[in-house]
Amino acid sequence: MAQLNVQHVDKIYDNKVQAVFDFNLDVKDGELIVLVGPSGCGKSTTLRMIAGLEDISAGHLLLDGKDITQTPAKDRDMAMVFQNYALYGHMTIYENMAFSLTLRKENPNVIHKKVLAAAEILGLTSQLNKKPSQLSGGQRQRVAMGRSIVRNPKVFLFDEPLSNLDAKLRGATRREILLLHKRLQATMLYVTHDQTEALTLADRIVCMSMGHVQQVGTPLELYDAPANRFVASFIGLPPMNFFDVTVREGLLEGRGFKVKLTEEEKGILLPYAGKTIELGVRPEDVQEGTEATLNVFSNENLGMNTLIHGHVGDNNRISAKLRGWFDYEVGDNVNVAFTRKHFFDKETGVAIRKGEKA
Ligand code: ADP
Repeated sequence: MAQLNVQHVDKIYDNKVQAVFDFNLDVKDGELIVLVGPSGCGKSTTLRMIAGLEDISAGHLLLDGKDITQTPAKDRDMAMVFQNYALYGHMTIYENMAFSLTLRKENPNVIHKKVLAAAEILGLTSQLNKKPSQLSGGQRQRVAMGRSIVRNPKVFLFDEPLSNLDAKLRGATRREILLLHKRLQATMLYVTHDQTEALTLADRIVCMSMGHVQQVGTPLELYDAPANRFVASFIGLPPMNFFDVTVREGLLEGRGFKVKLTEEEKGILLPYAGKTIELGVRPEDVQEGTEATLNVFSNENLGMNTLIHGHVGDNNRISAKLRGWFDYEVGDNVNVAFTRKHFFDKETGVAIRKGEKA
């Protein structure tokens, strides 16, 4: 059992920089939470406060109902996996994995069993006598995870664990972490700047910007119903297209293009009649149709899809991920439709949704 409650947590560094503002999160037992956001948004600071590696300036941290805000890192029963693995070069893989237990003076037979069990889970059984320098980056990362597993901590913390791996290995290691999570059913917090990692790994994502939590939800919730323009632009690749549009009778008028509204969309936008809002359309929601003309300036074949960059109307930049293989030339015109639209308040950036007032 490991439930974690982060309550109204702030972080102000000694140099008066406030890195985290009023962070709130209830992590359920066995949940895999991913903190995602651009560099400098406060993800690592948050993780390090949870680990006990940074003081908490205000707020509380509860583990299984017990206040651990002031508890030193070593007594928190959490294990952290770092980006740079932090392995001891002069020790074997076995010794690296056994190290924390040896320090704690555990019974050598118990240590042996735990190391072998963790090595088995991670496919490292045949590597135990090697030194870290003899292993690949992916294997080293697994040793770092093994070192956490043997401790059987209440909470696993991962700080950008895949950043030092190449793209292919990143995908494979990501799947291993997912399997590990399924197998251990452990509570995990995982920090990354990579939205793909967030979408593929998380039970729930916490999306942050400039020290503030922007949205907490399942990957589908963040993709399908982003709370604001920031989340909409950060989650999804290639990023969502945005256009300034004015809400007219039954349609949206952009610069040099118009799009029709469905009955439901008309209802949602009723309070915005005559006002300028932001229309968001994901590239995968721009498909062949009869709504607007896309003037092509690049055509990239991805196999199943073709990624088109170009303009609609008066020089509004747009990316489209068309289903299928196309070979458009620079200057070609493609008729497109927006199969799904998102709306954002121009001033606040907040998503305009059904049942919400302007
Ligand atoms: P992220 O993990 O999202 O990249 P960080 O948590 O590392 O972001 O940093 C958040 C903010 O706090 C940044 O503005 C960063 O410069 C600042 N910061 C991080 N560590 C320190 C520190 N030790 N002292 C002062 N400011 C720091």
